[in-house]
Amino acid sequence: MTSRDGFSAEEIFTQTTGYAYNDFIILPGYIDFTPDDVILETNLTRNIKIKTPFISSPMDTVTEAEMAIGLALWGGIGIIHYNNTIEQQVEEVLKVKRYENGFINNPIVLSPQHKIRDIDMIKAKYNFSGIPITVDGKLNSKLVGIVTNRDIDFERDRNKALAEVMTTDLLTAPEGISLSDANKILKTSKKGKLPIVDKEGRLVALMSRSDLLKNREYPLASKDEKKQLRVGAAISTKEESKERLAALYEAGVDVVVIDSAQGNSLYQVEMIKYIKSKYPSIEVIAGNVVTVEQCQNLIKAGADALRIGMGPGSICTTQTTMAVGRPQATAVYRTAKYANKEGIPVIADGGIANIGHISKALALGASTAMMGSMFAGTHEAPGEYFYENGVRLKRYRGMGSIEAMEAGGTNRYFAEDSPIIVAQGVSGAVVDKGSLHDYLPYLIQGLKHSFQDMGIKNIPQLHKALYSGQLRFEIRSQMAQREGHVHDMYSYKEPKYM
Ligand code: GDP
Ligand code: GDP
Ligand code: 5GP
Repeated sequence: MTSRDGFSAEEIFTQTTGYAYNDFIILPGYIDFTPDDVILETNLTRNIKIKTPFISSPMDTVTEAEMAIGLALWGGIGIIHYNNTIEQQVEEVLKVKRYENGFINNPIVLSPQHKIRDIDMIKAKYNFSGIPITVDGKLNSKLVGIVTNRDIDFERDRNKALAEVMTTDLLTAPEGISLSDANKILKTSKKGKLPIVDKEGRLVALMSRSDLLKNREYPLASKDEKKQLRVGAAISTKEESKERLAALYEAGVDVVVIDSAQGNSLYQVEMIKYIKSKYPSIEVIAGNVVTVEQCQNLIKAGADALRIGMGPGSICTTQTTMAVGRPQATAVYRTAKYANKEGIPVIADGGIANIGHISKALALGASTAMMGSMFAGTHEAPGEYFYENGVRLKRYRGMGSIEAMEAGGTNRYFAEDSPIIVAQGVSGAVVDKGSLHDYLPYLIQGLKHSFQDMGIKNIPQLHKALYSGQLRFEIRSQMAQREGHVHDMYSYKEPKYM
C-alpha cells in the first residue's frame, strides 16, 4: 500500500510546537478546472453567508463607512470600530445601510416650503439629492412632486422654495408592488427615481435607478433582505455597550463583534447571553480566543462565530509583553476543528500579510480572514496620506497602542481603571495601496488561483479535504522559507501587491 505524500494537518498542528503561517506549505492537488470555477462563498456567522471571505478589522485606522461599503460591495464585510461616541459609530453604520437599497423605506422627504439649500445640505451629508416632496415634508403624506439634481443644478438662488422648482408630473408605482416589477418600471421609464404611493397618493417608499446599476456592477455584494449592504460594529463587554447596542440595533447593524483581546471572560459570556436574548436577530461574533477551552465557553454562551488570534497582528506586542497568546496557524487549526464540529465558523484574525496567508488560514479551517494592515493603506481607510522619505504612507495603529487608548480605546484590554497604561500594540504607518476597488478584485482572483493549485473548488470542499486528511501539508525549514521567496537576484521590482 502506498502512503500519501506529505502530512495531514492533524499530524502537524497537534505537536508541541506552535506554528505561524510562514512555517508551513500546502502541497498541490489535481487541476481539472479554471480559477473562474472557484467559488469563495462562506459563512461569516452561523446564519450569515457572504461571497468573499474578507473582513476588515474594527480599528480606528481601518474601518469606517467607506471601508465597510467597499468590502460589502465586493462580497466581504467591514466591522466599524468603537473608538468613538455612540452617535459617531451609528452614523457610520447608517452611511453603509443607506448606500444601496431595494425599496428605500425611510427616504428623506421635504415640503414645498423647504429651500434648495436644504437639499444642498442633504447632498453634502449623504451624497444624494433626489428628494420627494410631500405636502408637509413627511413620509406617508400626500406626494406633490420630486426635486432631483437636474431641477436645481443651474439655479443660482439657493433660497428659492422647492415649490418653484419641483417636477410635478410624476411616474409612481403602487404600494405592494414587487421589487422585480418596480425595477422593470424603473428600467423602462428612464427616470432616476420611482416614488411608491398608497391608494390615496401618499408616499410610502422611494426607489432609485442607481441601485439597479449598483446591483449589476457588484454581483458579489453582501446584502441583507432589504438589499442594503451588510455591516458589522464592534462593542466592548462593558455596561456602556448596552446603550451602544440598542442604538446599533436601531440603525440596522447585521452583526456585532465583542472586541476583547482575551475573550474568555465572565464579562463576555454575560454580554453574549444578553445580546442573544434581547436582540435575537443580531449575529454575535465573540472572541478573541486561541484555545479549545476558550471556544467551549463562548459557544456555550451562544456565539454565532468566533474570532481567532491573540498576538499575531502586525501592530501587536501582546505575546512579548504578556507572555500569553498562540502562534496563529496552530491557533486557527485547533480552534476551528472544535468550533466547526459545533457548526460555528471561525475568523482567522491577525497576521495576514498576503494572499497565501489567507489561503492557509482557510485551509486550516477558518471560514473567513480578518485583516487590518492589509487594508490600512487603501484609499478607503480613515486618515490622510502623508510622505516619509518620498514614500506615500497612511497611519496604522494597534487599538492597544498608547495613542489609540488615549483616544478612548482602553476597553479591549481591560485597562480603563488603571492610572498606568500598558501598551499591547504600536503605532506606525503602512504603504499606500490605492483603491480597494482595485485591490479587492486582485485579492479575490489571487485566492482563486491558490484554490486551483490546491485542486479545490470552494471552501466547504477545502474543509472537507482538511478534516479527511486529503489536504496535505509540510513544515518548511528556515532555508526552505528563504528558498520560497525571491532570492539571489541582483535587483528586482516588487509587484504592486503581494
Ligand atoms: P439578484 O438579481 O441576484 O440580486 O436576485 P435577488 O433575488 O437578490 O433580487 C430580486 C430582485 O431584486 C431582482 O429583480 C434584482 O434585480 C433586484 N435587486 C437586487 N438587489 C437590488 C438592489 O440593491 N436594488 C434594487 N432596486 N433591486 C435590487
Ligand atoms: P441622486 O440622484 O442625487 O439622488 O443620487 P443617486 O440616485 O445617484 O444615489 C442615490 C443612492 O442613495 C441610492 O443608492 C439610494 O438607495 C441611496 N439612498 C439612501 N437613502 C436615500 C434617500 O433617502 N433618498 C435618496 N434619493 N436616495 C437614498
Ligand atoms: P493585522 O491584520 O494588522 O496583522 O492584525 C489586525 C488585528 O490585530 C486586529 O483585527 C485585532 O485583532 C488585532 N489588534 C488590533 N490592535 C491591536 C493591538 O494594539 N494589540 C494587539 N495585541 N492586537 C491588536
